[in-house]
Amino acid sequence: MISDLAHRALERDGLGSIRDRVLAGERLSDADGLRLFEARDLAALGALANHVREARHGDLAFYNRNVHLNPTNVCVASCKFCSFARLDDQAASQGYTMSLDEAVEKVLSKRPLGITEVHIVAGLHPTLPWDYYTTLLRRIHAAWPELTIKAFTAIEYQYWADKFGLGVERALRELQEAGMSTLPGGGAEIFAPRVRRKICDDKATAEQWLEVHRTAHRLGIKSNATMLYGHIERLDERVDHMRRLRELQDETGGFQVFIPLAFHPEHNMIGKAFAKPTGYDALRTLAVARLYLDNFDHVKAYWVSLGERLAQAALSFGVDDLDGTVLEERIYHMAGATVPQALSEATLHQLIRAAGRVPAERDSFYGVLRVHGPRAA
Ligand code: SF4
Repeated sequence: MISDLAHRALERDGLGSIRDRVLAGERLSDADGLRLFEARDLAALGALANHVREARHGDLAFYNRNVHLNPTNVCVASCKFCSFARLDDQAASQGYTMSLDEAVEKVLSKRPLGITEVHIVAGLHPTLPWDYYTTLLRRIHAAWPELTIKAFTAIEYQYWADKFGLGVERALRELQEAGMSTLPGGGAEIFAPRVRRKICDDKATAEQWLEVHRTAHRLGIKSNATMLYGHIERLDERVDHMRRLRELQDETGGFQVFIPLAFHPEHNMIGKAFAKPTGYDALRTLAVARLYLDNFDHVKAYWVSLGERLAQAALSFGVDDLDGTVLEERIYHMAGATVPQALSEATLHQLIRAAGRVPAERDSFYGVLRVHGPRAA
């Protein structure tokens, strides 16, 4: 239900026609997406996105119990927004590369915590051999077969496909055989060539990112999609980014969730020129994503990137997922994030309940494991 107040605000903003089409379940155009970004009344925009969110998921708000593993931050690329990568693994430069024993043990040590997923991403290491990655996954999977391994971005697959002469499909298949069962959505940044040329011109292109996900979907591997916003991109380039994702989703249906990631400005090459995106920008971006991406089931507010409180507020702006306990997040913390490195399940429940939602623990494929609330009958 959208309040009369929100209806009137949308009319006043000239968004009555978009509202009517959203309520009729019709697809929005790119021009509509841009108009929504320019809406003046954030609350009314949020109410419209919330309507769609509740129609899909009711009051449920999803999270999972997950741990992050970043086996190395050594990377040959030079993305201007990145605070994580280092040129070598010298302690003086905060570079590191975990031994296989160390990386495997880091994951297995979390077993008593009831974790259901490990999220693994790393830098593009120039000298690690291919069997470092296959052995890493194989050993984790053998020791803990119930754990879902969500492993490596499209950027990493493309790098290995070229470097080891494997091709993308074989790289995916070999890691799938080793235990990977889903892909994270990182590395998408902004697809527009103008932006990519300026912020990440020496890693996989937009087309390659999309092709890796297309191939994964063809192999039956579900994946996530992200968008890094709040730096040099224009609003029309955000819409363009979402359009390309929507088109691929029409084709494959393999994306599970869309995750807008707020740029963090500390300790990277472009941070001085840009402030962190405002709360206003974060909420409108999530709301527009919920309205524009009509073929994505889920929109996530990654609490590490937004802060817990803004992520909580986002549950009324189209968002249905907060990510998870996220044990030992490194990437955003190296970019100046001041949020904790993990949240307890109890804190997640508290945040979700205080927002009037019902916490639902999910697995990596949005299967509901447990509903913690009045619906838990
Ligand atoms: S974003 Fe990824 S690919 Fe780019 S420099 Fe950082 S670690 Fe390397």
